[in-house]
Amino acid sequence: MTDVDLIVAGAGGGLAGALRAAELGAHVLLIDSSPNFMRGNNTSMSTAMFPGAGSRWQRELGLEDSPETFTRDIMKKTLCTADPLTTKTLTEVSAELVEWMADSQGVDFSLVTDFHYPGHSVHRCHTIQGRKGDRVLSHLFARVDSNQLIDIMVPARLDQVNHVGDSLVAILETPDGAREEITARSVLMATNGFGANQEMVRRFIPEISGAVYHGSDASQGDALRIGSAHGSSGAFLNSYQGHAALAVHGSTLAGWATIMHGAILVNINGERFGDETRGYSEYAAMLASQPSARGWLILDQRIHQACLAFRDYQETVESGALRTTDNVADLAAIIEVDPTVLAETLVVADASATHSTPDPFGRATFEKPLSAPYVAIKVQPALFHTQGGLLVNENAQVLRDDGTIVSGLYAAGGAAAGISGYGADGYLAGNGLLSAFGLSYIAGQAAARNT
Ligand SMILES: Cc1cc2nc3c(=O)[nH]c(=O)nc-3n(C[C@H](O)[C@H](O)[C@H](O)COP(=O)(O)OP(=O)(O)OC[C@H]3O[C@@H](n4cnc5c(N)ncnc54)[C@H](O)[C@@H]3O)c2cc1C
Repeated sequence: MTDVDLIVAGAGGGLAGALRAAELGAHVLLIDSSPNFMRGNNTSMSTAMFPGAGSRWQRELGLEDSPETFTRDIMKKTLCTADPLTTKTLTEVSAELVEWMADSQGVDFSLVTDFHYPGHSVHRCHTIQGRKGDRVLSHLFARVDSNQLIDIMVPARLDQVNHVGDSLVAILETPDGAREEITARSVLMATNGFGANQEMVRRFIPEISGAVYHGSDASQGDALRIGSAHGSSGAFLNSYQGHAALAVHGSTLAGWATIMHGAILVNINGERFGDETRGYSEYAAMLASQPSARGWLILDQRIHQACLAFRDYQETVESGALRTTDNVADLAAIIEVDPTVLAETLVVADASATHSTPDPFGRATFEKPLSAPYVAIKVQPALFHTQGGLLVNENAQVLRDDGTIVSGLYAAGGAAAGISGYGADGYLAGNGLLSAFGLSYIAGQAAARNT
């Protein structure tokens, strides 16, 4: 006899596992180490983009999509390095997940069709009004809070997990140092990765260790530490999501919708340095290698209006990070560059956008050429979250290095190895939340069967 059927550690993507397990009749204990998880975890900070391949919102618009198409996009972006089993698992569950979140949990999803995320061959990101994760999180947490089958213990940190017979003993620690043992049939580690652990970031991802970390303080790598005690040393540990459009003024997310609508990114000399539409994640390391590791997003009023759909962008506006001017000379003065260099950059970008000459960096998508008045936002590269972690099977069960299952132990989200391959280049928008909510949903289901 155990205290509970399932312990879910981590109230980000972990909420999906708690709700799914309870829906199937399991008694769940949800814990989180941070009293501020609702405002400070990665899910709350995210832009709430959930990919669902073959969802009913896509079908309503006549868009053809499938797990196979999504898999092709992932393999193209990761140069075929993404873990094949986890990719299959997540692409296959992605549509079911968004439909379950809407139909069973009341999340008010719609399909994003106003711009194209780099790497997705079809519109497949689902989001909510305001496009901010804290609303999804508070909605789901309210459902957890009112669920009779789910108990909540916050703050409490999962420190260790040990096997005793067929059961698991989780050792929890509260901020006053008190330790408590709880027995369970299963434990889901949804504790995210190690982005806040400077020492681990330096060891595994040196290329981004000098950039600002813009994720949860609680992402200390606890799942990797707990997993290693069970013979799982983790995989894809240099995989991460970076971002090249974190505003310097106010540290808010200016966002890559700016780029996809036609903005350009220049370095502090006023020069472009690549095809911005490759992806915001890999562009973080590219910006980090530019002089002073700072740059300027240059957009116009049309793009500005289009980006107001994002609460992150609205917050960037409210913070005072935008500098507006109606001519190139003043724009050069604002960003403190040689006006002839900036003018040449804009002329070349204009020719690329109108397709009168090929873009020197191979960029094919601009939507429209930029036109005055211009808006400039100073940006810096950031590490958002790590994507390497414990390898799991199709039920989100943790695998040892020898391929055997650690019975009863599950991992999801940043705690698990994701589907972004190695480094920053393989990250596709939405694949962080898909791994967090998708693996957690699957784990909740599998753990409920194990009761
Ligand atoms: C600014 C930003 C924007 C993003 N936008 C997107 C997007 O649009 N789409 C997308 O797919 N991804 C996005 N991501 C990535 C996405 O947010 C993450 O991949 C995802 O939220 C990870 O979920 P998680 O459950 O692993 O972690 P989290 O949401 O961080 O939840 C982990 C929880 O575990 C708790 N915890 C940590 N250690 C312990 C422990 N030992 N015991 C108990 N609790 C513990 C933490 O307090 C935290 O609440 C974004 C990330 C950031 C930072």
